[in-house]
Amino acid sequence: MERIDEFVRSGEPHLVITADASGIVQAQTDPEFRGLFSQAALITPDSTGVLWASKKFGGPIASRVSGVDILERVCAQSADKGYRVYFLGAAPGVAEEAAERLRLKYPGCNIVGTRHGYFPAESDEVVAQEVAESKPDILFVAMGIPRQEKFIIATQHIIGAKVGMGVGGSLDVFSGRVRRAPKLFQRLRIEWLWRVLQNPSKISKVMLLPKFVMLVLQAKR
Ligand code: UDP
Repeated sequence: MERIDEFVRSGEPHLVITADASGIVQAQTDPEFRGLFSQAALITPDSTGVLWASKKFGGPIASRVSGVDILERVCAQSADKGYRVYFLGAAPGVAEEAAERLRLKYPGCNIVGTRHGYFPAESDEVVAQEVAESKPDILFVAMGIPRQEKFIIATQHIIGAKVGMGVGGSLDVFSGRVRRAPKLFQRLRIEWLWRVLQNPSKISKVMLLPKFVMLVLQAKR
């Protein structure tokens, strides 16, 4: 949260990536997305697999820092800090519902705009101009990895937000349409299993996990 606050105060655009195992695997075969990892101002560990890999190489990462948690904290602090927050992504109506619920939970929560995430890449500039009108400081984009990160980098000169961060399915969770994994699943570190049970089409993402394990086992420090 301190880093995000510094980014907002700097006045310059910053990309924040929440890295999970499947995103890291996707980056191996997508040079454009892979390049974004070097451009990111902050990369947070957003899966058990990333924690395991860090531990294996003697890294210092102690816990997950998920997009859901960062989004909620930013909203909770937005009134005090004066952050202007924008939600872009998810199906029509979802971002607005998420904003409504967060405003009830955190009175004064400063969400200055919302928009759904179903538009073709050719419309990125037009959508960016629409978002820019709300003058957000912090833009959360919930359109899935790596589409959301690519959108943030491609449009940051138009939107002018100081922080752009991809948050995957977070707006679905805050809208109440999708339940976050129960505490037991979180404690056992099997949130992925909960998501597959809720939405079997996510199995393709889970199939990337063995590949991640292989990459880590083959990697040298
Ligand atoms: N989504 C979107 N536009 C698209 C495709 C997907 O806004 O063209 C939304 C989708 O409705 C969902 C989110 O992107 O809310 C992706 O969630 P998912 O959990 O798949 O993201 P992940 O964190 O796994 O990348």
